[in-house]
Parts: sequence; C-alpha cells; structure tokens
Amino acid sequence: MKRNDYISWDEYFMGIAMLSAQRSKDNSTQVGACIVNDKHKIVSVGYNGMPTGCDDDDMPWEREGESSLDTKYPFVCHAELNAILNSSFGSLNGCTLYVTLFPCNECAKAIIQSGIKRVVYKCNKYADTDSVKASCILFEKCGVSFEEYRSNGKSIVLSV
Ligand SMILES: [Zn+2]
Repeated sequence: MKRNDYISWDEYFMGIAMLSAQRSKDNSTQVGACIVNDKHKIVSVGYNGMPTGCDDDDMPWEREGESSLDTKYPFVCHAELNAILNSSFGSLNGCTLYVTLFPCNECAKAIIQSGIKRVVYKCNKYADTDSVKASCILFEKCGVSFEEYRSNGKSIVLSV
C-alpha cells in the first residue's frame, strides 16, 4: 500500500521556496522563490541577496540610513528576480512561481516579461503599499493569475 502522508505539489514547491529563503543574509526579510513548469518540474529557485560579485560583508543590510545608499534597498536582488535570472532552462513561458512574499512591482514586471503565468504567494504583508497595488494591476492587465498559498498547518522538520 502506498504511503499517504506524502506532501502535495503545493507543499513541495512552497517548501522549497521557504527553504531557499533560509539562504538569505537579510536580517529583516528572508524571501524564497521556486519556479515550476507545467510538468511539475522545478526550473529555478532563488532568494533575496546582493548581486553576484558584491561581498555580503561590505554591503549595507540596514533598512534605514542617512542616504538610501546606506540601506540595502538599492542593492538587493529580490528572490523572484534571482529565480528568473537563475533559470538554466530556456523559456519560463507558462510557468508557476511559488514565492514566500507577494512580489513588488519591479519583480512583477520581470515575472510578466519572463512568461510566468501564475503566482502562488505565502504572505502579503505589504498589500497596502503602492508597489504591491501596482503588481496587482500589472498581473490583472497582463493575464498573470495570483493566489494565496493555503497552508494546512503541516510542519516539516529538517535536521540538517
Ligand atoms: Zn521584488
């Protein structure tokens, strides 16, 4: 008889996005993303971090500073953008993006342009910001569906 307590596709892919987020060096926001094609194959993963070549120890990770250049914001690559750019597969056309935080408008543009057609997000704590509102407008106009991940509260403990 087959095992019954295996994880669902959604749990698998969101779980990988959540595990990827654990690679982030950002002490306030860790975001992970996992891109999956229509055959349930993972084509890319990513997390928020400094661009390749930037020494994490030399870059600012603060949220506030005298100038924006003293904060992380102008520098950090978001998880979704990293996942899109990390893909070694050709096209992301028709793919689904699993992401732990609702995409900002800059990532929304990259998601749309990459051909991703569906976004499954875990948290949308910036829903009231213009950035996220713009993402919703863009997704709706450009035919990208988005839905909240529905957790059944299952806990998976990994001893690494
Ligand atoms: Zn973003």
